[in-house]
Amino acid sequence: MQKKIKVIPLEIVLRNTAYGSLCKETTIKPGALLSKPLIDIYLKNDELNDPLITKDRIELMNILSSHDLELIINLTLKINVILKSFFKNIQLQLVDFKLEFGYDFKNNIILGDEISPDNCRLWDLNQKNDIIVSLDKDRFRNDLGGLIEAYSEIHRRINDFLKLNW
Ligand code: UDP
Repeated sequence: MQKKIKVIPLEIVLRNTAYGSLCKETTIKPGALLSKPLIDIYLKNDELNDPLITKDRIELMNILSSHDLELIINLTLKINVILKSFFKNIQLQLVDFKLEFGYDFKNNIILGDEISPDNCRLWDLNQKNDIIVSLDKDRFRNDLGGLIEAYSEIHRRINDFLKLNW
């Protein structure tokens, strides 16, 4: 069901495994498992190129109260627990993902946007050696080819899982 929301101009990224910009901007090695989920928050602003932003700056800009920011962070952590175990069931490692939130007409905070391989990194756990096989938008971003095949494989695994478990 689609609901109209007033979008909060923040991108909430949760990382379970180090990859992408985290490894470009720090000395953390790609593929390192993080001891606890890391939340990185970005300001949605094309002119500024969606910069990484701090909690204090979010408050300073009056984007969100600290209460609502905590609420969003806690929701993101809960969503991670559900998604991580869902994807593990279908042999996929949930590396990281991006969420967006908004206010509905009653001023409740709700999840906006989609959850898909366009905004999640999903690695195939069916590999025998340690090579990374991305079944997500990185196939397009890194010019690896096989994007449709990768998304179709995820679709197939989800369908097979739902047939057996629902
Ligand atoms: N992501 C997204 N939209 C963006 C930037 C990132 O959906 O505009 C997702 C991306 O798919 C990944 C996660 O957020 O699952 C973390 O991405 P990262 O910050 O590492 O940026 P990247 O290196 O992909 O540019």
